[in-house]
Amino acid sequence: MERIGSVTVYFDEDADLSILKDKIIGIIGYGNQGQAWALNLRDSGLNVIVGNIKDKYWDIAVKDGFKVMPISDAVKKADVICLLIPDEIMPEVYKSEIESYLTAGKTLCFASGYNITYGFINPPDYVNVILVAPRMIGKGVRELYKEGRGAPALIAVRDKSKDLELKIALALAKGIGFTRVGAFESSFEEETICDLISEQVMGAITLAALKMSFETAIEAGVRPEIEVLELYVSGEVFEMWKAIFEMGYLEQAKLHSTTSQYGTLTRQEIFSSSEIKDKIKCIVNEIVTGKFAKEWKLEQQATYPVFSKLKELTAKHPIFKAEERVRELLKKRGYIKKLRVMWV
Ligand code: NDP
Repeated sequence: MERIGSVTVYFDEDADLSILKDKIIGIIGYGNQGQAWALNLRDSGLNVIVGNIKDKYWDIAVKDGFKVMPISDAVKKADVICLLIPDEIMPEVYKSEIESYLTAGKTLCFASGYNITYGFINPPDYVNVILVAPRMIGKGVRELYKEGRGAPALIAVRDKSKDLELKIALALAKGIGFTRVGAFESSFEEETICDLISEQVMGAITLAALKMSFETAIEAGVRPEIEVLELYVSGEVFEMWKAIFEMGYLEQAKLHSTTSQYGTLTRQEIFSSSEIKDKIKCIVNEIVTGKFAKEWKLEQQATYPVFSKLKELTAKHPIFKAEERVRELLKKRGYIKKLRVMWV
């Protein structure tokens, strides 16, 4: 293990896969993360079963060679239960198909701290509760494992006095490939807060910036197709973020012209105003206090009126029409390849 700042990072040598050798690992939900975890854990020599509702993901799991069963049956059979269904659905599924089948000594593993942090799921004390939260989409979790590289993850335990919880979290992280790079010690709360901040600040600012850049460029006389190509459809932004990942932000900046560097540095000062920072603080405050989680729960209970409206409205923005036209052309030329989400 290594310490960076106040964070402990665990590696392969800190994890003992043999504690899972005679255990059954139940993957609940065979979606983005579920499929990647199941395949990686099986390739690491562990005994994996899949619990899912009977639809296309069930069929994919069967095709991948797993024993697939209804969720409650998988919970009954498994020693370690990995909850890999969407967070907003999890509390209901937990109540109806998981809770009453939990017995002493079983372990519940979450891939996101959300439901524990906000108290939507309260597992009994006699089960181990751990968090293994990938900092990577499922596709990457699988592909990086196959390349022998792995991806980073955050890990946490509910009860720090239980040695076993950390041991199981580390063993799972090793089986999925996370300890090859580093399993960063965190907490359910920390994982939840930083995850939501990145979605609601970085993600939201990016979407707003794309729309507003597009609108103002068009007003300034740029044609829509040229603007979307510039903004993101060419893939240059993707290469830029790849370079940031490989070289670090400051080194990557040198790949751009000095005009570009000067323009970015001077103009980002305008957006770094206290007015915008205050807006960000409001968003973060709603995350930390649980206000956002309550709002989202109510939205679900009302069958997504705001969410549906905003999706509809966003899809109507002219940027996406222009995107479609340029992407069609680039696809025809073989420049854009279809993203493979499932490995079947
Ligand atoms: P997905 O949206 O890919 O999960 C789909 C799975 O959930 C399918 O097997 C689906 O089965 C099942 N499912 C959907 N609805 C229901 C339901 N009502 N009852 C039972 N099963 C249902 O999930 P992700 O892999 O994206 O997320 C899983 C966990 O991983 C979450 O906690 C998430 O926060 C976390 N995570 C996800 C990341 C990502 O990149 N996606 C990154 C890091 C963490 P079916 O369609 O058959 O109903």
